[in-house]
Amino acid sequence: MWSPLLVLAYVGCLGFTWLFHAERLHGADLRVYARAEGLALLLGMGGLVLARRPRWQLRPDAWIPFCYGLIVFTKIGAGFLMRDGLLAANQVYITMLVVLIGMLALQLSLRAALMGFLLGLSAFAMAPWLADGRYAWMFLGHYLLTSGVCLFVAMILEDKDRMAFLQAMLLERERKEVQRLNLELAEMARRDGLTGLANRRHFDEVLQREWERSRRGAHPLALLMIDVDHFKAFNDHHGHPAGDGCLAQVAQALSSVVKRPADLVARYGGEEFVALLPDTDAEGARELARRLIEQVDRVALRHGASPAAAHVTVSVGGSVLRPGSGASAQELLAAADAALYQAKAGGRHGFGFQACEPTRLR
Ligand code: GH3
Ligand code: MG
Ligand code: MG
Repeated sequence: MWSPLLVLAYVGCLGFTWLFHAERLHGADLRVYARAEGLALLLGMGGLVLARRPRWQLRPDAWIPFCYGLIVFTKIGAGFLMRDGLLAANQVYITMLVVLIGMLALQLSLRAALMGFLLGLSAFAMAPWLADGRYAWMFLGHYLLTSGVCLFVAMILEDKDRMAFLQAMLLERERKEVQRLNLELAEMARRDGLTGLANRRHFDEVLQREWERSRRGAHPLALLMIDVDHFKAFNDHHGHPAGDGCLAQVAQALSSVVKRPADLVARYGGEEFVALLPDTDAEGARELARRLIEQVDRVALRHGASPAAAHVTVSVGGSVLRPGSGASAQELLAAADAALYQAKAGGRHGFGFQACEPTRLR
């Protein structure tokens, strides 16, 4: 991104010197100038080539300070070697420009900027051996002042970056937490608190979805309604807390039988449960109802006031939505309810089946 800036800066520096000091550039000064510019060009081009390599792009702080520091070194060195005072001053200005670009525009880390600064500073070690050291102190002053200001700004920018990074991390953590809580909330909104099964709302949603799926895919959809027999008597006899415990155990027994991933057991309300069985025909529904009744029998929760058995029992009503029958989800529910009524009327602790027919053809 910054390569056009570097090219522009380089061409600008060259142009600046040629525009204002062309008549002074001759003899030894021209040689120093040409060598320094050539070296700077080589270093700059080398840097641009490296910056294109993905491996080097990853860690710019590891090598940019060297390129930048060496360019500064060259510029300072050239400034020292120029015989013409104005050309030397011109070299000072250009060095300041390089410092500005290197430390701020390239957005080096503070450490990297410091490394570049020290590399440039080492050029002043040659000052004592200069034939004409008049400008060395002034040059050093300018270099220290510009670098100091740039380092200070780089420090502030890095601090800001760090804060922005921290804030982004905190925001990301908060976003994840909110996402987790939302998922938890959505899960809670689908569950029945007492039994841990899906609740009525979730069942209604899934019923609608499965009804549409069965219509599209021409699969049968079976529905079983399960009701605890003489549960009012259970509550009256054993108390409401025992009634709650009984419902939880019946729920566990039911879900231990219904195992297919697409199946859904839900608490429909009170002591009534439903099992929605996609892609299941009447034969399958009958078999599952039998297993549900047997499983609740197997739990054998004592029921001290049931005329049906000495333990808690359930009655099951089933219905199946045949593909192409045109019946609605509500009609499937009504048929299963009517089948449950049959099972109750037949003495409870048993299974009833009712065909699901549409009340009117659509
Ligand atoms: P049937 O064999 O005809 O189904 O008779 P039943 O007594 O089971 O049916 P009924 O509808 O007369 O009574 C249902 C009882 O279920 C009434 C209510 O007190 C009880 N009940 C509903 N929800 C809960 C619950 O969450 N906890 C407890 N402990 N009891 C509940
Ligand atoms: Mg009941
Ligand atoms: Mg009931």
